[in-house]
Amino acid sequence: MSEVKPLSRLLEYTRPHRTQMYLATLYSILNKLLDLAPPVLIGAAVDIAVRQENSVFSNWGYTDPIQQLIILGILTWLVWFGESLFEYIFKLKWRNLAQTVQHSLRLDGYDHLQHLEVEYFEDRQTGGLMSILNDDVNQLERFLDSGANDLIQVITTVITISIMFFLINPIIGSIALIPIPFIILFSINFQKRLEPRYAVMRDKVGILNGRLSNNLTGISTIKSYTNEDFELERIRKSSIAYKDSNIHVIKLSSAFSPLIRMIIVMGFLGMLILGGVFALNGTLEVAEYSVIIFLIQRLLWPLTRLGETFDNYQRAMASTNRILDLLKTPKQIISGTQVPKNIKGEIHLSGISFDYKTRPNILSDIEIKVSSGDTVAFVGPTGAGKSTITKLVLRFYDPTKGSVMLDGVDIRDLDLDKYREAIGLVSQDVFLLDGSVYENILYGNHNATEEQVIEAAKIAEVHEFVESLPQGYHTLVGERGQKLSGGQKQRISIARAVLKNPPILILDEATSNVDNETEAAIQRSLDKLIVDRTTLVIAHRLSTIRNADCIYVLDNGKMVEQGTHGKLLNLNGQYASLWRVQTGERDTIY
Ligand code: ADP
Repeated sequence: MSEVKPLSRLLEYTRPHRTQMYLATLYSILNKLLDLAPPVLIGAAVDIAVRQENSVFSNWGYTDPIQQLIILGILTWLVWFGESLFEYIFKLKWRNLAQTVQHSLRLDGYDHLQHLEVEYFEDRQTGGLMSILNDDVNQLERFLDSGANDLIQVITTVITISIMFFLINPIIGSIALIPIPFIILFSINFQKRLEPRYAVMRDKVGILNGRLSNNLTGISTIKSYTNEDFELERIRKSSIAYKDSNIHVIKLSSAFSPLIRMIIVMGFLGMLILGGVFALNGTLEVAEYSVIIFLIQRLLWPLTRLGETFDNYQRAMASTNRILDLLKTPKQIISGTQVPKNIKGEIHLSGISFDYKTRPNILSDIEIKVSSGDTVAFVGPTGAGKSTITKLVLRFYDPTKGSVMLDGVDIRDLDLDKYREAIGLVSQDVFLLDGSVYENILYGNHNATEEQVIEAAKIAEVHEFVESLPQGYHTLVGERGQKLSGGQKQRISIARAVLKNPPILILDEATSNVDNETEAAIQRSLDKLIVDRTTLVIAHRLSTIRNADCIYVLDNGKMVEQGTHGKLLNLNGQYASLWRVQTGERDTIY
């Protein structure tokens, strides 16, 4: 049965909480046993009324019917009290357990996800991943909150009532059991048919979530192109697909209870008639007959809910699979073990070739050696491979051929976290937290003091601007820094890098998209920042990299020219032509 696997995976995952699970199970069973007692007590009441001095209580020495009724009353109170008490504690246990498991799955899932390589995220929709971390985790909560208890209590009911029937009358007991295998077989079969429909539904909700989150992120673009109607239409299509897949599920799952009730009623009829005959001919006590009639009801009702319980179970197992699959996804970029010490910052890209999974020959035979403290720059047309080089240095990807080395050691042998700690990245695509300006600068080094944060802001020439804000450093920047301009975001990102104080710096198009004044300010900060650091710059404005120790000109993944500004101008090749365009001597490039 396919659903056994995710259940055993879930049990394996919840191993640390096993004691809590056993306790919760025990309380569920005790609650059910006490819940099943009232029909027996009713039987005892009938027995007292019918047989009086000879009733079942006389076996224990209580012959006075009034005395018997008082004992019965006390028993009834105890049973109800016990049932309520166990209901409270089983709910408490299961719900707490659900919260604990959910919490650890959410954290484990997120932590595993953030350690997966960049490539993993390129192949997936953020919304889809969100729906695993949200919907699927919540689905498990629903199951553990009530579904697990339902299953345990149905099993307890079937077993207890069967035993009771056997004790009362073995023939009746056997008849009561006849429908049960049919019910189970039918339920399993039914679930198998339901399973693929659920899979489709989950797919559709993943797509819908993906679209929604993508659209909300790009809301400014949607508005600027007045594409609201177009987007609404796309969302409508996804939503209809999800709705239809749900309706497909509902059509089948709603048929479960009515169908199963028809099977159960056959068992019920058999019991009703046969028990009646036995009671009429005296083989069965009237009290026993009434207990049977009450108990058969108690057996019947939970079984008609089996569909809902299985439904819940099925969804939970589908979610379990998705969450645990995520947790099982192997990391492609594996950390080395060597801890880099006294980093000088010499970077060597030795014989590098690189393919993206979907795009081959992005870089070929790249050889770059950057001495400690030097600044090198990459120029070339869009798509030449400049960013890819910096991504290889950051070890977002490993090269297909060749190796990246830091101070003569292959970075694959280095402890990944420690290695990345040595690199500061100032990129055009600045990621700001939804917090204050202060928190955003502190992101570069959580141990920095307030003075250090302000000093970093001063070097990044953002201090005055921050001071002018209504709440100064405590002003909130809005989600993804929406309340700041591009230049302001970049300066905060420079302040971060200053605070991080790394031996290696990567500046990715740091001066594009800003006005001349801002560019000049940013340039001044960068000039201060790059002193004594190995710096790799991707710049579109060649004026900013004129003083670089070496400029590498890339075209279509190949190194076409390299040297200082002066040398490249003398060469009169691609760089010289690019230079002439930027200084206004020519209008077009390439
Ligand atoms: P540059 O920074 O010089 O503009 P990139 O290094 O960003 O160039 O890109 C080099 C080439 O690799 C481009 O053709 C780009 O389309 C492709 N590319 C970049 N990222 C990916 C990716 N994740 N998957 C597939 N191809 C990519």
